[in-house]
Amino acid sequence: MRVYNFSPGPSMLPLPVLEKAASEMTDAHGSGQSVMEMSHRSKDFKPIIEKTETLLRELMDIPANYKVLFLQGGASLQFSMIPLNLGAAEQGEVKKQAAYIDTGIWSKKAIDEGAKYLDARVPASSQDRAYRCIPAAPAPEKTDAFYHITLNNTIVGTKWASIPETGAVPLVADVSSCILSEPLDVSKFGLLYAGAQKNLGPAGTTVVIIREDLIGQAPSWVPAMLRYDIHAAEGSLYNTPPCYGIYITGLVLEWVKGTGGVEAMGRRNSDKAALFYNYLERSTMFRSPVEKASRSLMNIPFVPVESDETRRKDLESRFVKEAAAAGLINLAGHRLVGGMRASIYNAMPVEGVEALINFMEKFEASHV
Ligand SMILES: *Cc1c(COP(=O)(O)O)cnc(C)c1O
Repeated sequence: MRVYNFSPGPSMLPLPVLEKAASEMTDAHGSGQSVMEMSHRSKDFKPIIEKTETLLRELMDIPANYKVLFLQGGASLQFSMIPLNLGAAEQGEVKKQAAYIDTGIWSKKAIDEGAKYLDARVPASSQDRAYRCIPAAPAPEKTDAFYHITLNNTIVGTKWASIPETGAVPLVADVSSCILSEPLDVSKFGLLYAGAQKNLGPAGTTVVIIREDLIGQAPSWVPAMLRYDIHAAEGSLYNTPPCYGIYITGLVLEWVKGTGGVEAMGRRNSDKAALFYNYLERSTMFRSPVEKASRSLMNIPFVPVESDETRRKDLESRFVKEAAAAGLINLAGHRLVGGMRASIYNAMPVEGVEALINFMEKFEASHV
């Protein structure tokens, strides 16, 4: 029996995608081989990577002056590649600066990496409010090389309700946990990046969508593998790309298209999230710690109302254990914030959310 997996990542993939991949496992498209065995430069693989890019462009309405790159190293490597390519100085030159809005643990990691290569200033942070909201975004300074935000904060369960206006300063966003979850105006950004393992496919593939005028600014000392200009010039084939991950991502994109595209996905995701937030509003045992205006559609943390620490911890561990026994797995919150969290990405069907609410109602009734 397949479980409902509420993991923040790697997370559920659509069943039709897994079944299609299984049916093509040993002989993909009549090639007599698995996609895993194909040369990345072969006539067999070329249509796979091209189809994946074409579908992503179509679904996200990516303008023609943007490149799509399939890289490795996860979103975490982008924390380094972004400052290295968009804001690092040549040796002997003065440091540049960039703005980072601090909305949680992933933002913090991006800031720490950025600070190695440039002056990473942090004009706004919601740390003093335990990251329960998105702070107001101050205007950038003219000398900012870029302006970085984490669009959806996977761990604390917040998202930017509107996109900040940054004028001529390129807006850079980590969209690892919200890419394709609802419509997004790509033209407002200089660069978008996402690890695949939440909404796109398996771990190991990273997608970067970058405006062409931002390519080619890396100082000469930046290593080849970390340069957008090299990856762009080689069509993501400078070295062996994560071929199988790109193939599965293509199947996921086909599935998104087949289920109505990103707008339909956005409506389903809003409905799923509303179901769960509404349940939390009526619950007498659990509540959402996140401020209403900043709530994520993808990652929904919840905590017991119980104020006694020992009883709360006990309730949490019983909850996670009993839920898993009922086929609802990976509901523990992030180790740094505690509580519980339901990640309900694109591939989580509404039935999974209903099953969780059902379970929680019964759990409440039997623990009063
Ligand atoms: C998961 C996640 C990351 C880290 O991704 P890796 O692929 O493990 O490097 C970074 N940012 C956000 C918003 C995430 O959700």
